[in-house]
Amino acid sequence: ARAEDAVQRLTRWHDDFPTPGVRFADLTPVFADSESFRTVLDCLAGCAPEADLVAGVDARGFLLGAGVAALLGTGVVAVRKAGKLPPPVISREYTLEYGSAALEIPADGIDLAGRNVLLLDDVLATGGTLAAAAALFTDAGAHVVAAAVVLELGFLGGRDRQGDYPLTSIVKL
Ligand code: IMP
Repeated sequence: ARAEDAVQRLTRWHDDFPTPGVRFADLTPVFADSESFRTVLDCLAGCAPEADLVAGVDARGFLLGAGVAALLGTGVVAVRKAGKLPPPVISREYTLEYGSAALEIPADGIDLAGRNVLLLDDVLATGGTLAAAAALFTDAGAHVVAAAVVLELGFLGGRDRQGDYPLTSIVKL
């Protein structure tokens, strides 16, 4: 409840950003406040205490991933936008409102087979991003044991596009 209150209180909302008709939630003040950040991290870590690897989605998911991994005592993987990682990579395309994008993780150097991954991002909107990120780990032979976001924009239906992992959101609108 403390994490929920902090998110409700500190989120910055902006109309018509980045495009007309979109109401953008900016969680910067939530992360910048020491108590709020800690309570959010504790809450996310509690979603999957059994995880042995944490993954965060480009870019604000990196902040959450690093913090939660430190709390759980695991390592962390940054799920990158296409073109940021040297090859070989595992890549997944996903559709955006206009066109498509791709997310990538390294295809070698980390042993993902059988790993129990907690997948994190700041906001769940239409759900394509989180679903693509989860598919990367499944493709690599890992189990996504849980996914968690700080804010779920429930009216966009992103939850329905997810795989069979449990999905937690601290605040659902
Ligand atoms: P989706 O694929 O439509 O669910 O979009 C989720 C991705 O876009 C996440 O990586 C979010 O960081 C970002 N995103 C979408 N809408 C918002 C928003 O209102 N605030 C912050 N990030 C957003």
